[in-house]
Amino acid sequence: MLRYNNYNIVFQEIPNEVTLAINISNCPNRCKGCHSPYLWEDSGNLLNKESLMELLNKYGSSITCVCFMGGDISPYEVEELSVFIRKEYNLKTGWYSGKNKLPQNLSISNFNYIKLGAYISELGGLDSPTTNQRMYKIENGEMKDITKWYHK
Ligand code: SF4
Repeated sequence: MLRYNNYNIVFQEIPNEVTLAINISNCPNRCKGCHSPYLWEDSGNLLNKESLMELLNKYGSSITCVCFMGGDISPYEVEELSVFIRKEYNLKTGWYSGKNKLPQNLSISNFNYIKLGAYISELGGLDSPTTNQRMYKIENGEMKDITKWYHK
């Protein structure tokens, strides 16, 4: 079961998209120097098709993308919600995972963007030139590394 603490409309998290970024709680990753330790607890509102529909009825016409910020506790639920959004709302989707690898049976084709990589404070996030994290655009079933787009 996924829960989210809050959400924002953002412009930087996914290049060239107006994104509804949903901050998912119960993060299992425990990165040293975590920038959002409030997301470690299993707290907040349920994130499911019904709650997404409520959010998208409010914001769906102002955005081009929905991004799941976290959700490593239940990646296949994230994937299922991504499929739902793309099919029912014709919006793009992204997923910020804190893992270094994708779960074995997840299909990348169910997302438009996927970020991989633990947060290492000394190396910085995606906007840092030394980051270990990678952002991929999914095109024709392949992952194209677009991390450099964050360093312009
Ligand atoms: S993945 Fe993000 S929220 Fe989770 S521990 Fe790492 S930095 Fe914190």
